Amino acid sequence: MDPAPRPFAELPLDEELGTPVPFACGTGDASGAAPSARKLDHERVTQCALSRICGVCGSGLGRPIAFLGSPQEEGRNAFHFPPAHLECAEQLLAVYAEVRGSVLGQTEPFDQWVIVTTGGFEYVRGRRQDVDRRPTFEPNSVLEERRLG
Ligand SMILES: [Zn+2]
Repeated sequence: MDPAPRPFAELPLDEELGTPVPFACGTGDASGAAPSARKLDHERVTQCALSRICGVCGSGLGRPIAFLGSPQEEGRNAFHFPPAHLECAEQLLAVYAEVRGSVLGQTEPFDQWVIVTTGGFEYVRGRRQDVDRRPTFEPNSVLEERRLG
């Protein structure tokens, strides 16, 4: 597995969807399986949180920090996809706008993607009592919110 950052244009392509696979979804496993945009890679998600790197391109975050996800995630202020550069989030959603359902860490169908920008966030590890025990990211003050699709 190569953890080096990659510019958006050089991300690997998902064989099934034909779309770029962001850093947070990994670059395929040791068995040689092709990378898939359907699932988040746990190690990469943790790496993004702790090292403050972009979930799309894998390089260091600046300001603002963008979160992308479903309206439900926005409503709960708890996103599963790690923080990203705003430009990276926009580029990623430009190609995923027509892809619905289980991609980029989403588990339920929804009608539109949301991008939220913030100056900072909390990383919340999955708790035993949560239905969904995956870690989440909570933006700590929303600067701007945009709906796409
Ligand atoms: Zn980026």
